[in-house]
This record gives sequence, C-alpha cells and structure tokens, in this order.
Amino acid sequence: MNDQTPGGGATAITDAVIYCADDGFSSFNPGTVVFADGVIAAVGPSSTVEVPDAATVIDGRGRLAVLPGLIDVHSHSSLLKGYSENAQLMDWLPEYQREHQVLTPDDAYCGYLVSYMEALKGGTTTVMDMYRFGHKGAEAADRLGMRVHLVPYAADHPTKAFFETLETSEQLICDRHDTSDGRVKVWLGLEHITYCSEEMFRAAADLADRYGVNIHTHTSEQQEEVEVVVELFGGRPVHVFAERGILRPGSVLAHCVWLDDAEIEVLAETGTGVAHCPVSNMKLAGGTAPLEEFRRRGVTVGLGTDGGISNNSVSMWECMKIGSLLQKVTRLDATAVSAAEAIRMATIDGARLLGAGDEIGSIEVGKQADLITVDLWQPHLLPLARAEGHDPILWNLVFAGRAGDVRDVWVQGRPCVADGRICGLDESEALTEIHARTVDLLKRREGVAAIGMVAG
Ligand SMILES: [Zn+2]
Repeated sequence: MNDQTPGGGATAITDAVIYCADDGFSSFNPGTVVFADGVIAAVGPSSTVEVPDAATVIDGRGRLAVLPGLIDVHSHSSLLKGYSENAQLMDWLPEYQREHQVLTPDDAYCGYLVSYMEALKGGTTTVMDMYRFGHKGAEAADRLGMRVHLVPYAADHPTKAFFETLETSEQLICDRHDTSDGRVKVWLGLEHITYCSEEMFRAAADLADRYGVNIHTHTSEQQEEVEVVVELFGGRPVHVFAERGILRPGSVLAHCVWLDDAEIEVLAETGTGVAHCPVSNMKLAGGTAPLEEFRRRGVTVGLGTDGGISNNSVSMWECMKIGSLLQKVTRLDATAVSAAEAIRMATIDGARLLGAGDEIGSIEVGKQADLITVDLWQPHLLPLARAEGHDPILWNLVFAGRAGDVRDVWVQGRPCVADGRICGLDESEALTEIHARTVDLLKRREGVAAIGMVAG
C-alpha cells in the first residue's frame, strides 16, 4: 500500500515543455518546475528557476511535457463495460443497471480499482465518481494515492432500491468527506430524476447545507429523456431541479445536451456548473452540448468521461480531442475549442467546477503538486520544433496525444505512476483479482431481468 502522506523532499523536472493552464495559459520551453512537501515551490523558464541541491531531478531534455494532472468531472466506476452496447440511453440505462442489481461492496472495490488504475495511468489525478459503496472507492483511491470526489448514486423509488440512499450518503460524508489529506471528498448524488422523489431532492438540499457539501446529478442527455421529464413533472429538467432546491453555487449537472436558453440562464443565475461528456454523448447518440452558449453566459464547464460504461475508456485525452472535434463539426467552425481550451476544460475549469480551483488544476506556486509528464519523444508526437512563433507541441498533445503517452504522475507531490507503471501496486496481481471478481459478478447477473425506466 502507498504511503498516505503528501510527497516530502524536493523534486525538480528540468528543461521540460511546461503548460501551466493558469489564467494566461503560460508555457515554458525549456521550463523547470520544483515541488516539495506536496506543493509547487517554483515554475518558470529553466534559466530563472533555482533547483535545490538536494532535489530529485528528472531531466526533461526537451522531450517531456509537463501538465497539471487531468480532472475527470463525471465518471462512473464499473467492473463491466462492453456488455451494454448499441442502445439509446433509455434502453441502455436499465440494461446497465443489471450490474447494480447484484453489486456487492467487494465488486464495487474492484470496479473502483480498475477504473482508477486506468485513469491514473492516463494522467487523471482527480475523478468525480458516481458509483456505489463509496467507502470502497475511498479505499481504492487511497491505495493508489489519487484524488476522488465520491458521489453516491442515490435513489428512493421502490423499484430502484438497490441504489444508495440519503442515509448511506450521509454516513459516507461523516466517515470520508475531506479525508486522506483532502484527497477524498464526498458529494450528494441523485440518480436519474425519475428515480428520486421530490422529497428526496429537498432532503438532499438540506443535507448539503448541513454538511457543506455540493450536489451532483445528471440530466438532459437525450431528447427523449427530456420529453419524459416534461410529461411526468410538467417542466423541463433544469426548472424542476431549480424548483426542488438543488441548484446553487457548487452544484454540478452532467451532460446538459438538450437545454433551452431559459434553462442555460437558470444555470448561470444559480451558479450551477456543467460536466460535459462528449465521447459518451456521441456513443449513446445523445447530441452535442451547447458549449458556446454556456461560455457566453459564464457557466463553468469541465470535461468528463462518463466512465467506461458508456465510453469504454476513461481517457481524458480522447475527451479533449473528441470534445474539440465534436464542437467544430457541429458548429461548422474549425476555430471552436482550441487545444488550449480543451486543456483548460480538462484541468483548471474542472478544478473550478469541483470547487478546488485554488488548490489544483494549474501549475502555480503554492498549489498542490498534482502533475504529469508526457513522453514527447515518440513518432506520433513529433515535431517538437517551434517555427514562426507557432508551438506544434500544444496542438499535437491534444490531437495526437494518448493516455499511454503519460510517463509519470504525482498527486500532492507523491509519485503515483513512474515510467508508466503504478507505484506500490503489482498491476498484474490486481488485474487477476479484478478479473476473477468480474467473472463472479457476471455469473450472479445471469438471468437478472432489467427494470425499466420508472413511469412516475
Ligand atoms: Zn453519467
């Protein structure tokens, strides 16, 4: 098991290509970043940054890029993927939930572990994760040393009794919110609006006030889903949420593909942010979220994978590239979502969305040392040479970079991935445990009938 304390002695990554994702989107090439005691101590051009004598030095030699750790603002850990395929959301959801109908805490632990292993190796240092048995998620995150915002999937409709409840969510808040040196946070999570009563929404809002935690749910992923909500509740989803008291600064709604202007205005007025999941929205044929309209109204947008269940990958690299391409082709505008904008969404904007913008999401002195290096010395990431003031590296990172290009990962200055391998974990042994648990889960799931979307 990994040491739980933030990284101690100084480490310096020298002569690298550094993208800070700060307000001015500063970059240094060659640049040096120094961190100690879990915090960034210095960053700038190599000629100006002093490297402490005792520092552990990683020589970037112009062949390593350094970025802030990537932040996945909407994921669902899972043991299963690839079993619920070729289906629209409303058919896909009940089929996916067959996993939940038989899920045990031990299954969940393995689901968390495999999802976090994949995320961490791809440079994701923080995940907002909507899943179950959150204590097991905290355990898995602690084992790997990564940062998680755990969001219990809660519902109170009698046919969805297998989900978490507000009671189990409150217990998780009491036990694990803001623990592990601040790496583990807990949110209140509401599963689909059709699975949660009005009373449950109001009780969640009260609990959020009492414990000072935020609220996360998902909505308006597909047109048909919005129509169902309008029919059942007499209003579009965002208005129903507002009426039920869950929209406030710090609240986050995932997807928000089918929002009309009035709903976007409600997000802006209430300070509610959006977790944008482009790959999942494409795979489930949901549609294209109106990013430009969100931006124009000042709604904070982070980037999410939506987990392996509807994405088959938790790669934030794919989300950056595909998220940019989706906006370009939908708007017929090649200037939509530049490489820098994609990186911002995957780092500092995600941090702000999670209420952690002062701590993580950019490489700035005093911030937590959540950092990744990317091996640029590979055929698909060349060339590295600037010409006429143009930086090809930034564009190639977003449009040619892959999760497998990540070499090293630190969270709070502590190494979590070194040279592509997870620190302090026998990966093969962990995968054997995960595989055996998956086979067992699949056996228990056999013959379990899907329970359809709730009709009121
Ligand atoms: Zn989701």
